[in-house]
Amino acid sequence: MSLLTEEQIKKLQEAGVRYPHVNESCIGCSACVAISGDVFDLDDEGKSVVQECENYEDKMVDDAISACPVDAISWKG
Ligand code: SF4
Repeated sequence: MSLLTEEQIKKLQEAGVRYPHVNESCIGCSACVAISGDVFDLDDEGKSVVQECENYEDKMVDDAISACPVDAISWKG
């Protein structure tokens, strides 16, 4: 799942920016939101989504990946 549109993803890929992706195994525990609230948010269904950022480095994404109990987060790009 992602809040990022196809167009936003294409822009990130063209710029060589890697970005996190949340897959459908997310159980909505909100650990990633607590750790990296600039990057992750919960949607209306209580699942994590990735918010638009110019740069995802130095935003504790690796810590959020480590904390996710179902390994739902990975880097893309
Ligand atoms: S830490 Fe993992 S399971 Fe918990 S809300 Fe984030 S992506 Fe979903």
